[in-house]
Amino acid sequence: MAVDLVSNPNGVQLKQAKKELLLSKRKGVIWDRVNLGGIILQFIGLLFAPFYFTWSAFWLTLILNLSHKSFNLPKPLEYLFAYFGLHAAQGDPIFWVSTHRHHHQFTDSDRDPHSPIEGFWFSHMNWFFHNSYLWEKCGKSNNVLDLKKQAYYRFLRRTHFLHLSGLALLLYVVGGLPHLIWGMLVRTAVGHQCSFTVNSVCHTWGNRPWNTKDLSKNNWVVGYLVFGEGWHNNHHAFESSAWLGLEWWQLDIPWYIIRLLEYLGLATNVKVPTELQKRKYNS
Ligand SMILES: [Zn+2]
Ligand SMILES: [Zn+2]
Repeated sequence: MAVDLVSNPNGVQLKQAKKELLLSKRKGVIWDRVNLGGIILQFIGLLFAPFYFTWSAFWLTLILNLSHKSFNLPKPLEYLFAYFGLHAAQGDPIFWVSTHRHHHQFTDSDRDPHSPIEGFWFSHMNWFFHNSYLWEKCGKSNNVLDLKKQAYYRFLRRTHFLHLSGLALLLYVVGGLPHLIWGMLVRTAVGHQCSFTVNSVCHTWGNRPWNTKDLSKNNWVVGYLVFGEGWHNNHHAFESSAWLGLEWWQLDIPWYIIRLLEYLGLATNVKVPTELQKRKYNS
């Protein structure tokens, strides 16, 4: 690298270096390489950020599979996954499962809790701030008596805000404001938007390999963003199936985990679409 000594108008000598753009032609540039490597890693990290931040939303997706009785888990494991899902901060299991069952029962009708027939933004997130309206049109959570029978879910319903506050406090004590902001706010914000996107985008844009009586679509962007729930037309066609990514290229991480749990003997009675069900939509 050429270095010339030059004088500025005040007579102070400055080193003026010519920039060598190519790293390979520079000498003694280990820190350039380390810094560049760090920046590239940050960008790779950013690419994976949605995946990292949506883990609690992912557990929620897995547990919603249980709301369809797509497979059975031993109770301690079901309760543990439900607890992780609670930290997605989208309400308690009785609320999600009830809303989700209403969504399947009344899909894209005026009784659907979150359909784009009431406007894209309503289906995306405004519905989340209209609890009394939802109760009025869908009915209260009387469609989840199986969960309400269990003391654990009643306990989570009463206390879910305390668990979220406890986690927020723990994050603050361990890592101060940065941990609180990233571990709580950014994580749940990204998780919320990913889950909400399934309700809005996947009932608006995408393709419909199955001729269901609703607006559900398979959207590949959402499919990859939220681990698999974006294959939403598949999900509405075969709602009791634990397998949502029916094509080899349709990423479906909950399904891979369910398969692993099945292999380990933990998940039982795992349901997939039958040929008869598939024919129903092809005819
Ligand atoms: Zn849907
Ligand atoms: Zn569902």
